[in-house]
Amino acid sequence: MKLNDRGLLIVLSGPSGVGKGTVRKALFNMPGHNLEYSISMTTRKQRPGEVDGKDYYFVSREEFEKRISEGKFLEYAEFVGNYYGTPLDLVNEKLAKGNEVVLEIEVQGALQVREKCPDAVFIFLAPPSKQALYDRLRSRGTESEDVIEQRVQKANKEFQLAYKYDYIVVNDTVENAADRIMAIIRAEHAKTERTIHRYIDLLK
Ligand code: 5GP
Repeated sequence: MKLNDRGLLIVLSGPSGVGKGTVRKALFNMPGHNLEYSISMTTRKQRPGEVDGKDYYFVSREEFEKRISEGKFLEYAEFVGNYYGTPLDLVNEKLAKGNEVVLEIEVQGALQVREKCPDAVFIFLAPPSKQALYDRLRSRGTESEDVIEQRVQKANKEFQLAYKYDYIVVNDTVENAADRIMAIIRAEHAKTERTIHRYIDLLK
């Protein structure tokens, strides 16, 4: 299989509370795509309503660290006291089938993917304003004030790295943001370096 026949790797980042999960779900509900979500592994406690093996694979720190030492992550990072990582073999399996794989990860992990997979597409989801983000973080009501404050600090740092991404998409409404991301994916598909190999015979 030629490298270019592998699916597209799409990295979606953005500060905690910007609505990555909601936008991703709206994107997946759109017709006519073969997007697959990469389920991450984490040591964070399961939130009410989250399903193990669907939202995340929830594991102990010990288990996570064992997997780090075995080189089983495409990337991993510590975020507000917990590990989060992308299982390498699952991503490779999906890409090898020609599917598009979406990683929804924070900035440090995204930068590791940039090093390892330079042809991935990097999209930063931004809030319409900082205030909108802080309001959302507070209204989620699942974290203590202390953790919310840490997430706010983290969001400030993440904004500073937005320039490292290929695209910045504003999440003004979920539908708009999902539409814009789909437009980016379609345009990326048509990029010459991704498609030219199909026409080599015609160009001879
Ligand atoms: P949460 O605890 O809100 O589910 O996630 C916290 C942050 O970790 C979010 O920014 C989320 O995108 C990020 N995250 C989720 N999975 C991964 C992963 O596999 N790797 C990295 N680096 N970040 C992740």
